Amino acid sequence: MLNRFIGPYRVHNIKMSILCLVIAILFLRGTIGAAKFSTPEPVLKTHFHYTSRKITEADPATTTTTTTTDTTQNNNNNYATFDISKILKDEGEDEKRDPNQLYSLGPRITDWDEQRADWLSKNPSFPNFINPIKPRVLLVTGSSPKPCENPVGDHYLLKSVKNKIDYCRLHGVEIFYNFALLDAEMAGFWAKLPLIRKLLLSHPEVEFLWWMDSDAMFTDMAFEVPWERYKDSNLVLHGWNEMVYDQKNWIGLNTGSFLLRNCQWSLDILDAWAPMGPKGKVRDEAGKVLTRELKGRPVFEADDQSAMVYLLATQRDKWGDKVYLESGYYLHGYWGILVDRYEEMMENHHPGLGDHRWPLVTHFVGCKPCGKFGDYPVERCLKQMDRAFNFGDNQILQMYGFTHKSLASRRVKRVRNDTSNPLEVKDELGLLHPAFKAVKGSSSS
Ligand code: UDP
Ligand code: MN
Repeated sequence: MLNRFIGPYRVHNIKMSILCLVIAILFLRGTIGAAKFSTPEPVLKTHFHYTSRKITEADPATTTTTTTTDTTQNNNNNYATFDISKILKDEGEDEKRDPNQLYSLGPRITDWDEQRADWLSKNPSFPNFINPIKPRVLLVTGSSPKPCENPVGDHYLLKSVKNKIDYCRLHGVEIFYNFALLDAEMAGFWAKLPLIRKLLLSHPEVEFLWWMDSDAMFTDMAFEVPWERYKDSNLVLHGWNEMVYDQKNWIGLNTGSFLLRNCQWSLDILDAWAPMGPKGKVRDEAGKVLTRELKGRPVFEADDQSAMVYLLATQRDKWGDKVYLESGYYLHGYWGILVDRYEEMMENHHPGLGDHRWPLVTHFVGCKPCGKFGDYPVERCLKQMDRAFNFGDNQILQMYGFTHKSLASRRVKRVRNDTSNPLEVKDELGLLHPAFKAVKGSSSS
């Protein structure tokens, strides 16, 4: 009968389908267990996770816990009410140092230049210069191993690291994000010191290490650091000679974005910089010295920036000739004087300048987006961080034919239509294949 309506071939197919279905059902009974095949939903939930899109089999570990412990707690699928401290636990004590011993960043090294030169000669495939004038650079940034004190802080950390990844990719700079507190005594703004030393010693191939705070963002994606200018310098900070050496002003330089050459001199200055860092009595007492000796410094524990001003101002003879205080462009740019001028910059200038016309870096000093309290109103900080991010991100988006609708907007709009000759598209700033990223080599086709 069926044959007449749909033909013998289709009937064969239908029979095959029914057979497959029966086999599938038998198979499912085998895997899930006959009794559970008709089990009501509450029992099934202990074996399956229901998601909005599909049902997936549960991890056996989760399955056991849900059946043996309080289900109201472990079945909580609400991230907003979940207490994260249940998951994030710090085990063990911090290593304690003998308080009578002077603090040190590590075993004394005096022949690093020789050790490093030897390594470089034995490892020619890891040259410390990418081309005759361009050093191999490692950008290092990081944040505390704990989640931020407030829910949005981590989102801004993510934006800030995305921004740094973009700049580094465009400029052939390597990047390292640190989450680990390598030395408990050097918590907070001092954490960068042990980290920097460790990275210099582990990466002899790196010529310059570029420290950048988590609250600093690149706002000029096209600006290439004038590396040649620093050929005779080991430490490059944004700052002014007169403010540091004459006035001993605590904001005469900034340690939120600086360059440090991989050499013995740098290990020595790290050693000279570190002693005010250990938290507790040492840091508190040193803070008093710094406030007394430096111009304009408020009363608070010793910080790495004030300590650097103090070190340079009191020992200029020892360090001064290898320190370059840069003010020709914004290696660090204080956000307060830049963020309200972004529209004016877009109106009159273009990326690639790096200075007051189009700042390389905008640094949100004092905003503390990851902390509980900052020195400025939260609304202004977050709003301006978004604007700085979008200002920089527009230079990335333009490569792909988009731009943010405004500096305040997360949304984007198309600024160029797609064509059937995608390779003929020229991005305005030439950032898709910038000369500063080019490497020597050949490709087969
Ligand atoms: N930082 C870190 N680990 C910590 C705390 C801070 O690596 O536990 C880094 C982080 O990159 C931060 C920088 O230290 O940006 C300096 O602190 P902050 O930017 O808050 O100081 P400010 O620039 O406001 O003086
Ligand atoms: Mn900072």
